[in-house]
Amino acid sequence: MSQSLPNHVPSSEKACVAIWFRSDLRTSDNQALWLACEAARAQGLPLRGFYMATPAQWQQHSVGPMQLDFIERSVNQLQRALASLGIAFDLLHCDDFSLVNVTVEEYCQRQGVKQIFAGREVEINEQRRDQALAQLTRTIGVGLQFTDEHCLLPPGSVRTQGGEMYRVFTPFFRRWRELLGSEAIMPLPVPAPLAPALPKPAELSFKVSNQGSKQDSHHWPVGEGAARQRLDSFIANQLADYGQERDFPALDGTSCLSPYLAFGILSPRQCVAALLNRFPEAMAEDNSPGRSWLAELAWREFYRHLLHAWPQLCMGRNFNVLGDDIVWRNDPQEFAAWCEGRTGYPLVDAAMRQLNQTGWMHNRLRMVTASFLTKHLLVDWRWGEQYFRRALIDGDLAANNGGWQWSAGTGCDAQPYFRIFNPMSQSEKFDPDASFIRRYLPELAHWPLKQIHHPGTAASSRFTEPSLFATAAYPPPIVEHSAARQRALTALSVLKKSA
Ligand code: FAD
Repeated sequence: MSQSLPNHVPSSEKACVAIWFRSDLRTSDNQALWLACEAARAQGLPLRGFYMATPAQWQQHSVGPMQLDFIERSVNQLQRALASLGIAFDLLHCDDFSLVNVTVEEYCQRQGVKQIFAGREVEINEQRRDQALAQLTRTIGVGLQFTDEHCLLPPGSVRTQGGEMYRVFTPFFRRWRELLGSEAIMPLPVPAPLAPALPKPAELSFKVSNQGSKQDSHHWPVGEGAARQRLDSFIANQLADYGQERDFPALDGTSCLSPYLAFGILSPRQCVAALLNRFPEAMAEDNSPGRSWLAELAWREFYRHLLHAWPQLCMGRNFNVLGDDIVWRNDPQEFAAWCEGRTGYPLVDAAMRQLNQTGWMHNRLRMVTASFLTKHLLVDWRWGEQYFRRALIDGDLAANNGGWQWSAGTGCDAQPYFRIFNPMSQSEKFDPDASFIRRYLPELAHWPLKQIHHPGTAASSRFTEPSLFATAAYPPPIVEHSAARQRALTALSVLKKSA
């Protein structure tokens, strides 16, 4: 959406162009920044960047403490990068989105802002915020231009021949590739400096009322340099084997780029361009070694396109309305055991401890733990979605909601309700030597493999004799697999009509 430049002269003596950074915290391949620089140059004005800290809104959106720390560090890194381009940066504070317009209006007055550039966001509250902003800027005579920074193809632009949004991933992926295949995928470089570099800026801090609500994220380096390094290293060393290794949590088989993609420190265009540079045939050929990673990047886009087409997904609604009839058990104690990694199923528990300790969880394990919560324990997927959102450093509404509804069987293109991951066979298959499990459950270090993979079953009973190394700390399985499976099949059969 764009508006022509107004004639309005701001009341301040000063004048500038502004760019509002949201979840596009980067200087390279940032269309909004590029256009803002061009506008500033054309009008002979300085450019100022700003970020809006909204603590109450973050709380409402379940943004977690580790993620907040990561965003704050990333904003500081961005501020330094912008200073080297001669672009000043401001951190604005307002509690929630209802106060955004007041804050923006005051900022425009203070800085003499003539035009604002910003990346569009797909979530419903963010869209409403931007609709209100468009009204405000029209009223006060400030130009406003949005760009699409989050997807290679803007949400809403990948449609069936009948003009519908796809409900199934595979045809979406095919059409997405067709559309992308017809254009060169060329990320924008960092814009040339607008002015001499500014002095090193002072460190910025989010004013969150409860200081305890930030949690150290330092094991995730911030900045475009760190993200680029990780991308290049993944492309050079891991991409060729990604299809074979991506499901094994003990291996370093996936990119771990999700936090950088979630906050736009890296763009999906940069990822796809790097992939095609290595495997140019990946767009066209199914058996290209780059194909599975391309598909994962497309899943990310699919879920964003879904959110755009079905905004009710942002409001906790089942995509499949038949899901409204599921009678969840929602046992608070069992939920707490799942959150804390105390279910007695080592793969599930090791995964939850990885999440709680590092803010990240391997994709295979996100599927296993989500299936366990919604199917074995029959806890509403929304409880799990919210827990993940707060604990994950890459917490992202579209991917998280998509993943949870896929796992529960209520989603678009979901896993059918009767497919219930067996935590024991998943353990045997994807962590065969239990090295991942032992890393996060050191209390099981001396357990024999069979007992780790089959806790509490006949297969493991001969190992349950107390031994010199046995530990009483690890709990027995919270539910028996076959009984829990049967119970889930009954409860979730309300989804049958759509299966
Ligand atoms: P890679 O395998 O290297 O993939 C590259 C990128 O593609 C990822 O960084 C991510 O941006 C995207 N991607 C990969 N798989 C998926 C997928 N299934 N759906 C959407 N995007 C994908 N991803 C998030 O970014 N944020 C979330 O909050 C989130 N919640 C999830 C919840 C559940 C229940 C499930 C099953 C999946 C969730 N995912 C989420 C998707 C996926 O698990 C992570 O993106 C992935 O594990 C991140 O690791 P990586 O960067 O090494 O991924």
